[in-house]
Amino acid sequence: MGLGDQLLATGMARGARARGKKIAFGDGRKILWDKNSAEVFRNNPNIAKPGAERDQNVEWIPFYKGHRIYNTQGRGRWLWNFDFQAKPGEVFFDNAERRIGRRHGRGFILIEPDVPSWKSVAPNKDWGRANYQALADRLKTEGFRLAQFRHDKSSPPLNGVEGLKTLNFRDALALMSNGMLYVGPEGGMHHGAATVDKPAVVLFGGFIPPEVTGYRSHVNLTGGAEACGSLTPCQHCRKAMANISVEEVFAAVMETLNGR
Ligand SMILES: [Zn+2]
Repeated sequence: MGLGDQLLATGMARGARARGKKIAFGDGRKILWDKNSAEVFRNNPNIAKPGAERDQNVEWIPFYKGHRIYNTQGRGRWLWNFDFQAKPGEVFFDNAERRIGRRHGRGFILIEPDVPSWKSVAPNKDWGRANYQALADRLKTEGFRLAQFRHDKSSPPLNGVEGLKTLNFRDALALMSNGMLYVGPEGGMHHGAATVDKPAVVLFGGFIPPEVTGYRSHVNLTGGAEACGSLTPCQHCRKAMANISVEEVFAAVMETLNGR
């Protein structure tokens, strides 16, 4: 289950405490967290914990594993709910997390060539390592410091790109909050970039529509495709990714950085 979903939840819960409420994510009877919820929701004053179901101030949102609001299951594909619009999430770091989040310094471009290979839709979100390498080479010649997160499931860093070891997802976000920009696929890290208020160039391709899980503050590239939601590797998605050139992504990165 996606860490991105947890961040989407924190976006939905934004501002609840200010209204005297806490958001209960579940089916209206039980708060349904999954294995990633506690980590991402830690210290979040807007979210009710399991066990708080009967509290006076809870407000239910039916967003939980198997019920994600932004999509419903169609035949072999997700059907996207275009009434849904992602709002930037929030993670409440403590002082120690903030401090160790600075251990690799600041001002790097975070590049993420990996898609979660254990998910069936991964090939549909994959721009390809060769493209990411070409992009990295191009950015290197402009003198940028490039970094890539390393963890137990990551591939080796691209040539010329620093590998930054992350301790967990929160740590990755704390590190990213010291970066300059994220470039990579739609997923946990693009939600993370929005959460820590960083610009991003997101390689959406043809699987999932930016109108639903994208952020207005980011550059979202689709290769001109309509999102298909296909749960299995898809020619149309492959073509969408192939339509996104290294030059286009490079230009988007440069424009984004020059605009700030
Ligand atoms: Zn497709």
